[in-house]
Amino acid sequence: VIAELRRLVGDGAVLDPAPAHYLGDETEGRGLHGRADAVVLPGDAEAVAAVVRWCYAHDVPVVPRGGGTGYAAGAVPLDGGVVLALDRLDRVRSLEPLFWRMEVEAGVPTAEVRRRARESGLLFPPDPGAAEQSQIGGNVATNAGGPHAFKYGVTGAWVTGVEAVVAPGELVRVGGPVRKDVAGYDLRSLLVGSEGTLGVITAVWLRLIPAPEAAWPVAAFHADTAAGCAAIARVLGNGLPVAALEFLDSATVRLAGAGFPGELADGFLVVAEADGTAEGAAALREEVVAVLAEDALSTWTPGTAAETASFWRWRDGVSLRVQAHRGGKSSEDIAVPVERLAEAVEETNAIGRRHGLEACAWGHAGDGNLHSTFLVDPRDAGEVARAQAASEELFALAARLGGTISGEHGVGWVKGGRLGLQWPDAALDLHEAVKRAFDPKNLFNPGKKRAR
Ligand SMILES: Cc1cc2nc3c(=O)[nH]c(=O)nc-3n(C[C@H](O)[C@H](O)[C@H](O)COP(=O)(O)OP(=O)(O)OC[C@H]3O[C@@H](n4cnc5c(N)ncnc54)[C@H](O)[C@@H]3O)c2cc1C
Repeated sequence: VIAELRRLVGDGAVLDPAPAHYLGDETEGRGLHGRADAVVLPGDAEAVAAVVRWCYAHDVPVVPRGGGTGYAAGAVPLDGGVVLALDRLDRVRSLEPLFWRMEVEAGVPTAEVRRRARESGLLFPPDPGAAEQSQIGGNVATNAGGPHAFKYGVTGAWVTGVEAVVAPGELVRVGGPVRKDVAGYDLRSLLVGSEGTLGVITAVWLRLIPAPEAAWPVAAFHADTAAGCAAIARVLGNGLPVAALEFLDSATVRLAGAGFPGELADGFLVVAEADGTAEGAAALREEVVAVLAEDALSTWTPGTAAETASFWRWRDGVSLRVQAHRGGKSSEDIAVPVERLAEAVEETNAIGRRHGLEACAWGHAGDGNLHSTFLVDPRDAGEVARAQAASEELFALAARLGGTISGEHGVGWVKGGRLGLQWPDAALDLHEAVKRAFDPKNLFNPGKKRAR
């Protein structure tokens, strides 16, 4: 495999031996690591097509890989095959500020996409939390969310076109710079969120918007989950059009509170961000403060744009600070109707207690999306197994509350085969038929995003 691929894409583009970095993702912390027959880093879309063509002709599985920040082991080659890393497809093909759009290759880091937009006074709103490491192709392949998905929607809402290599090695383009397109079935949307199981995304066209002038988060600590969730309901009920509506339960605040830019209180944290014109954001912030402060232990809001930035840096670090306590964690991303959030948070902690595991939950409250988490020592097989059993209970809980097993991380390997908890058989059949239509030999990321 290595010799053939080297002939196709050049010696330097095939890494042998496979560096450990390309064999795992964020699920290392729950003990998952793969092995690959080869790791290939093609230099452009045509080279990606050549690799896929060779693999498809020789029945070799292809595991597409972005930044490796996924929480579902989607990029982990658990059964071998060729890891196709997009790192070298890192060009911004076009940036047209006057038309609010850009075309970027899959391997451009998420933060770079946001920075380039920002330099032109524009915003690419999706902001999943590992932006310096994740790639735009990985974000599109997982249809990633993040705090500002509450107002602005998930990644897919900003993708007007996708260029991808599909079976048996064809470079195709669906959509493009055009903002509206209802011709044909929506293949673009099928590729968005397909987690590398339908093809390899090589480039995307993105829609941008003028950046808001100001953004002011308001943080409010509440006595307990019930009081915090009541505050969240008040923000919604009062019709406050906040950009982000986040929460950290009391256990998460205790584990990951260090470095909070204001004064920390022991309680359930709710954060709502007001953005818009300077005047509009300031007025909305006042309303948010009034609504959140009603029943709060304390509130905090930044005084400068730099403090806002430092707040979000702190928020981005929550996941890794939680993990640091035991070295590992099983972190899921269930989503429930927002009025069931309190129940889901309480139940996460109860499930942890039943399995003898330290638990906590935080996430995107406005979207009912929780990172329900169980802390583990990844070297302790018993603990890892108990965390897996706890996660199974979480998936059942999400379905029982009318929600989903994945709000933003995707199914990957860790949630494979559980779609039946939330979908009827006929829908599962269609899911499998789509996979067969795109990938008749089952070579694109086999074993991932399985319905059954
Ligand atoms: C600290 C931290 C915070 C996070 N916060 C968030 C958050 O707020 N919201 C959120 O949604 N996620 C979050 N994540 C999870 C993760 O960052 C996202 O899932 C991200 O979109 C993964 O991108 P990646 O480039 O790292 O993809 P990878 O992990 O490399 O791959 C993810 C999946 O996409 C596939 N894939 C990758 N690139 C391509 C491609 N070019 N073509 C086809 N398939 C491809 C892979 O096969 C795999 O199935 C967080 C992760 C960390 C570590």
